[in-house]
Amino acid sequence: KYESYPYERMQKIREQNIAPSLRTYYKKPLLLHQGHMQWLFDHEGQRYLDLFAGIVTVSVGHCHPKVTMATQKQLARLWHTTNIYMYPAIHEYAEKLTSLFPDPLKVVYLTNSGSEANDLAMFMARLHTRNFDIISLRGGYHGGSPYTLGLTSLTHYKHGVANGFGCTTTMLPDVFRGPWGGSHCRDSPVQTVRKCSFACLAKDQYIEQFKDTLNTSVPKTVAGFIAEPIQGVNGAVQYPRNFLKEAYQLIREKGGLCISDEVQTGFGRTGSHFWGFQTHGVVPDIVTLAKGIGNGFPMAAVVTTKEIASSLAENLHFNTFGGNPLACVVGAAVLDAIEEDGLQKNSEDVGTYMLLELAKLRDKFEIIGDVRGKGLMIGVEMVTDKDNRHPLPAEEISQIWEDCKDMGVLIGRGGLYSQTFRIKPPMCITKSDVDFAVEVFCTALQRHVERAAAK
Ligand code: PMP
Repeated sequence: KYESYPYERMQKIREQNIAPSLRTYYKKPLLLHQGHMQWLFDHEGQRYLDLFAGIVTVSVGHCHPKVTMATQKQLARLWHTTNIYMYPAIHEYAEKLTSLFPDPLKVVYLTNSGSEANDLAMFMARLHTRNFDIISLRGGYHGGSPYTLGLTSLTHYKHGVANGFGCTTTMLPDVFRGPWGGSHCRDSPVQTVRKCSFACLAKDQYIEQFKDTLNTSVPKTVAGFIAEPIQGVNGAVQYPRNFLKEAYQLIREKGGLCISDEVQTGFGRTGSHFWGFQTHGVVPDIVTLAKGIGNGFPMAAVVTTKEIASSLAENLHFNTFGGNPLACVVGAAVLDAIEEDGLQKNSEDVGTYMLLELAKLRDKFEIIGDVRGKGLMIGVEMVTDKDNRHPLPAEEISQIWEDCKDMGVLIGRGGLYSQTFRIKPPMCITKSDVDFAVEVFCTALQRHVERAAAK
């Protein structure tokens, strides 16, 4: 019955009854009917290649049969909270999930969203260290709850109410848009083409800035530092090689814990490794997971050490829905699907292929300033020209983006000026899907060139 509502009626309901702070994509937002693996279908039966994986939440594919079947089976058995009793699902899942982490990261807390996971990570860092200050990188997104909003450093998510006590943001080591960068700085099959005379020193320059923050903006001891291995919402921003390694060391010297926000980068998305932190050669003290952990099912997790967990065990810490049987069964089915379908390897192979194909477009079109990323965590930053790196005006980017949608390809947007296309498809995408998407993107770019010439 719900599906039979006309489009206009739903628009009206949206205007009147649904939170206006939720902004839909596209001039005429899609009315979705169903999803299957890397495909979405709208109410008119039009098929779209989903290069944004429902905001990076779909890891193994929309309605992956294995996950769907496991969910259906569990739905008929038990799905209320089991946190005050024993139930096999949470034990099986906790063992399976933590087996994927290096020592000493072996204890898991199950929560319901990424914001909640980062809230808990902040809380743990403060409780364990008995320090208060937490540092995050500018451009990072770590949640929209009052606690995590202090870590999130993107103006359009900020509201003018008190938040962020004890949260300090520091310079983003962005080798494309920041003051220092250059070739072979980052761990990607595609390097930035920006010209910079300080290329080989970029990491050192950014670390100097990091030290500067530690020396000027926080007390002598800190509770922690949180960073995404590759920034998600800010447009797949990658840091120079070894930046995180040195930053972690500096934080630990100040008594702080290092938190890796793997909400977007985890579960094999970066291809070469299962977790994003592994691509930086570091072992965090706390890791937070969400989105792809449940392939779209609302669940999240915090993984930490036994020692840090013991600080939280002095009193009760309870979460009604965290670790419910349904979530645990979904989480386990997702891990099985990643392994059985070879999705980490697929992310590496197909992601690298896509990056290299997109780099060819960058060389062809002046308005593509940067192509970057790792595996299926890709950003394409749009500029007015490659030398000045000014963001392409929003309305021009929007037209390219709408044209891609009209030709059947959905892409995400990100960055402070919404100037970066975010490509993070379900990890089951194929090389022929990439060929289709790149052809569509190329056509949309050519149309942009023709429009500009006609002006
Ligand atoms: N961390 C990162 C890196 C994210 O991208 C997000 C969501 N965009 C969050 C945390 C917050 O997750 P949630 O929306 O589930 O609260």
